[in-house]
Amino acid sequence: MKALGSWLRRLERATRPVDPEFVEAMARRWDELPEHVKVPGQVLGRHAVGCEGTHGVFPRCNFTCTPCYHSAAANAVRVDGVHTVTQVEAQMAFLRSRRGPAAHAQLIGGEVSLLEPEDHAAALSIMRRYGREPMSFTHGDIDYDYLTTLALDASGRPRFRRLSFAGHFDTTMFGRRGIRRPESEADLEPYRRRFAALFARLRAEHGVSYFLAHNMTVTPSNLGSVAEVVRQGADMGYSMFSFQPAAFVGNQKRWKEDYRDTSGDQVWAEIEAGVGCELDYTVFQHGDLRCNRVAYGFYVGPKWFPVLSSTPADLATRDAFYRSFGGMLFNNTPPAVVAARIARAVARRPVVVPMALAWLIRTARRVGWAHLARHRRIRPVSFVMHSFMDAADVAPAWELMTRGIQSDDPQIQATQERLASCHYAMAHPESATLVPACVQHSVLDPDENRQLAELLPLKLGPTRRRAAGTVG
Ligand code: SF4
Repeated sequence: MKALGSWLRRLERATRPVDPEFVEAMARRWDELPEHVKVPGQVLGRHAVGCEGTHGVFPRCNFTCTPCYHSAAANAVRVDGVHTVTQVEAQMAFLRSRRGPAAHAQLIGGEVSLLEPEDHAAALSIMRRYGREPMSFTHGDIDYDYLTTLALDASGRPRFRRLSFAGHFDTTMFGRRGIRRPESEADLEPYRRRFAALFARLRAEHGVSYFLAHNMTVTPSNLGSVAEVVRQGADMGYSMFSFQPAAFVGNQKRWKEDYRDTSGDQVWAEIEAGVGCELDYTVFQHGDLRCNRVAYGFYVGPKWFPVLSSTPADLATRDAFYRSFGGMLFNNTPPAVVAARIARAVARRPVVVPMALAWLIRTARRVGWAHLARHRRIRPVSFVMHSFMDAADVAPAWELMTRGIQSDDPQIQATQERLASCHYAMAHPESATLVPACVQHSVLDPDENRQLAELLPLKLGPTRRRAAGTVG
């Protein structure tokens, strides 16, 4: 009887529609946000605390990209699994303590596939243990063997039910096997397809599901290819296309063009041209719109549709979602538990049922019943643009912010506003601080990587170490 009582109590706790600790973490996040981003569509503080990323856990990469956001010394740091796992543990523990029980976190640094698969798997397990939904960032030049060794345990059984990867493909990157110096984005099409096919095979052969993002750095040179990349990639298996207009940050020797010749508006217009319709990035907002634009939606056949439009009825549906489900944890949770949480949330606010039905009917009408019947399959695909800032702006802005001073220079002031609304944080457990990724790359990476190069040196001669900036 006692055992049954305790089981029921655990069941009641597990199926609560909202997680009190998550709600508290979001409330803190909301309070910290500057007023200018406290808009109805803001996701931070309503359904998420923001994105997180690792740093200094495996800085090295075997590609040479132009630009590269990592400092020159990053490539003088040996990849060392023990270091990676220890640092990931420390950073995740700190994020868990400061940002609450759930967030998306990027396993990022240099090239993740330079890690031994066992170390990579250990890092992912640690991230999950701290409630993080990890995504591994790679240049995509990996083999099926690597993927299976990562995904399966020694007995050949999946150790993860699902993997999330972001594959980076564009003409600013050099060193890919088979196409060391791509001349056009179209040349990379087979490589984009091959990468996605690895995961489709993994799912078919071993039942490991996946979420794939496609990353592309956009410069004046490849801006005109963005639309084609979107068109070609739409049915490859990627669930997200993320574009990063290049910024002057990281290794200065890798700055090759005037990146400020390309504006965020131009990049977004190219994405829209590829999708074939306007993308409203104000329905859901992540932090500051000058940093992030997002359009969530899905393809039915060759046409893309937004999950929510900016009509009053759809915006009311969004607001109802935030109210009833904003504090609900979906990730790392068995589907049956999610279903029970949803059922309890609906019991609390039954009004969401007619609202959800009305939204379903509106969306189906927008797609068109005939179009739906013809194509049937719905493929969720979102479009994202993340615009890092230039180190020359971030460094003075951050220096003033650490002293509590607001700049009177309009450019630096705008930078401070964006840093204060940052959606993408990195952890420094040693100083008990969280910093925006812009600050990490613009201000902290050079010293951090120089120290790591001393701690984990490569076997380089003095000339190459001088080139990497680790000896005077
Ligand atoms: S990392 Fe920089 S560009 Fe990205 S959200 Fe944070 S402040 Fe904005």
